[in-house]
Amino acid sequence: MASEPISLRGVILSSREFKDKDRIISFLSSTAGVIDICVKCSGKQSSKFQAATIPFVVCDVVISMTGTFYYLKEFSVVYSNSSILNDLEAMTVASHIGKLLSTSYIDNTNSKDFYELCVYSYYALSESHNSLLIYSAFNWRFLYLLGYCIVYDTCSNCGNELGSAYLSYSSGEAYCEPCFSKIRSYEDRFLMTWAGIKALDHFIEAGVNKLFSINVDEDTLHKLVLFTTRYLNAMIDGEFNSLLDLMKDLNL
Ligand SMILES: [Zn+2]
Repeated sequence: MASEPISLRGVILSSREFKDKDRIISFLSSTAGVIDICVKCSGKQSSKFQAATIPFVVCDVVISMTGTFYYLKEFSVVYSNSSILNDLEAMTVASHIGKLLSTSYIDNTNSKDFYELCVYSYYALSESHNSLLIYSAFNWRFLYLLGYCIVYDTCSNCGNELGSAYLSYSSGEAYCEPCFSKIRSYEDRFLMTWAGIKALDHFIEAGVNKLFSINVDEDTLHKLVLFTTRYLNAMIDGEFNSLLDLMKDLNL
């Protein structure tokens, strides 16, 4: 017996094969968190549901539960974000975002903020060419929503205002140079520029619609990509090096 149908607006994070012909999509909505939905790809509904197996699409769905699975009953595209699929770097960042969100514990109590962050990030990736900035901003805001990072206005030890600063992977705090050399080990540090410190604070404090409205120089941008990736790897189970690997392969 199928349950009562449920209507949701959400975004497709990823899609994988299931049994012979069907697919499972990982679906994030603002009210239900991340759920898996089975999409029947055989039979007469198959053509109607083809777009429902493409990642990064914002869509309205109707689903119902049979046994332990949600099944897709109705589907319509709200915004396809299709230009992400034409750009290797944007696609890598979008997949990274999908992987992080689908493997984190997001349920109906905390999903609204993650959903908005995801939708704005995918839209920005489809419209702009600043994938590295979107990547860094997403990572930092995501970690902030999980409670792993803080605003860096002053040195965590002496309280003096920060210029460039040493960021700690283990504590998530920022230290001025004299303090860092006194209290932290050499390995546990990342020297971030002042512009990078300001950018990280912006990624926490800005409205989600203004998250990517910031200019940073190229050197700082690369530092932001590197630091936020390493910090993710330190804080979250798993390895999240897909963008770094791509940049290495392309010699960026
Ligand atoms: Zn200090």
